[in-house]
Amino acid sequence: MSHLIADEQTTGGGRTNWAGNYHYSTDRLHSPRSVAEVQRVVKSCDKLRALGRGHSFNRIADSAANQISLKDLSEMTIDPKAKTVTVGAGVSYGQVAPYLDRNGFALHNLASLPHISIAGACATATHGSGNTNGNLATAVSGLEMVTADGEVVTLTRERDGDRFRGAAVGLGAPGIVTKLRLDLHPTFEVRQVVYENLSLSQLENHLDAIFGSGYSVSLFTDWQNHRATQVWIKSKVTPGTPFSIQPDFYGAKPATRRLHPLAGHSAENCTEQLGIPGPWYDRLPHFRMNFTPSAGHELQTEYFVPREKGYEAVLAVEKLRDKIRPHLMITELRTIDADDLWMSTCYKRKAMTLHFTWQPDWEGVQRVLPLIEEQLAPFDPRPHWAKVFTMKPAKIQAQYARLVDFKALAKEYDPHGKFRNAFIQTNLYDG
Ligand SMILES: Cc1cc2nc3c(=O)[nH]c(=O)nc-3n(C[C@H](O)[C@H](O)[C@H](O)COP(=O)(O)OP(=O)(O)OC[C@H]3O[C@@H](n4cnc5c(N)ncnc54)[C@H](O)[C@@H]3O)c2cc1C
Repeated sequence: MSHLIADEQTTGGGRTNWAGNYHYSTDRLHSPRSVAEVQRVVKSCDKLRALGRGHSFNRIADSAANQISLKDLSEMTIDPKAKTVTVGAGVSYGQVAPYLDRNGFALHNLASLPHISIAGACATATHGSGNTNGNLATAVSGLEMVTADGEVVTLTRERDGDRFRGAAVGLGAPGIVTKLRLDLHPTFEVRQVVYENLSLSQLENHLDAIFGSGYSVSLFTDWQNHRATQVWIKSKVTPGTPFSIQPDFYGAKPATRRLHPLAGHSAENCTEQLGIPGPWYDRLPHFRMNFTPSAGHELQTEYFVPREKGYEAVLAVEKLRDKIRPHLMITELRTIDADDLWMSTCYKRKAMTLHFTWQPDWEGVQRVLPLIEEQLAPFDPRPHWAKVFTMKPAKIQAQYARLVDFKALAKEYDPHGKFRNAFIQTNLYDG
């Protein structure tokens, strides 16, 4: 059951992931400064794994032999005519966003925090919220990677079709990504309004409308009292249109001060609320760039279910509220549009996600995860690739119709499994 972060206490290195729930299994971290140096590192290693900003909660970025950080590949170039930006694989959303905004552009969406690398986020199908917003990898229109033999390969959405769709959410397996090209939109402003105490019963008949009430909508719940404690609605600002905060949202009432999703935490590290407009990159994430995101020490889990089953899934998990409560900080519900990226958790499926921010107590969390997974089993859950879960590999593999093609693609670029670590071996290859 604990195959994902089983040996978190044991390994030698002093470096940990962001949450500190495990140490990386090697001290060998390569930090090339150019694509040519990446090629040299790749050629010199038998086993190698790309490391982004280390925000994953499981061992997906780990290696027992070598890791490679692309942090120094930090160039950013906008093509205003094509409305794209090309970024080095070390660039984070926090770095690219203000640069885009200054130049009149925006990305379609962001995750709850800007600290993560674009390459790491796209590799794991990281997402924000919004009924019609695809995950962050859906903005990728081209990528450059170094394959196991040290060659540089470029794939684009328009030219490479399936091959591109296979590599865009690559889980670090086909190659070491060195550059990404992202689609841009004209810059926009967003207002964030928070409501308190929404009855979960409202989701029975209004799930699409509730999640569609803004550009990006999140519901937070502690699973107590059949209610969402907070609803965060992020809406695009239409210049010249009068705005006032509605006094009632399906029975929920507007917050009169800024709130942190966790009751009792200061809202200082949260993005601006109360309907005050601001740039897209300072409203779409929940947490501000120069502050610690979320609560700090924590674990996270998230399951993607078909959106039309969202309410049923909520009711199924709610039955476990007393077992969940001792370990939970907060749950967040979000929606994401379907896409066609093979290993995406939203592959061909509009999703609602049930996310759990846990106390940093793996012993307790790993007891409750199988119970949640059992409750969600009728809804074909797909666990977030970068968060903790205990689902059996065979169940995960059954969720990915293009898995065989993905493995063939990975084999073509990496015939001897140079980039395949224990996480990939277990979850994609073992039965
Ligand atoms: C506080 C917090 C909040 C979060 N909020 C959200 C959220 O709102 N939505 C969401 O979906 N997720 C969220 N996450 C999860 C996070 O988005 C993922 O863990 C993401 O993958 C982290 O990016 P990273 O740069 O830290 O990558 P890492 O964790 O370092 O790596 C992730 C994966 O990407 C691969 N990778 C990294 N760089 C490359 C490269 N150059 N080439 C090939 N593969 C590469 C790694 O090998 C690994 O498999 C959150 C995490 C934290 C800690």
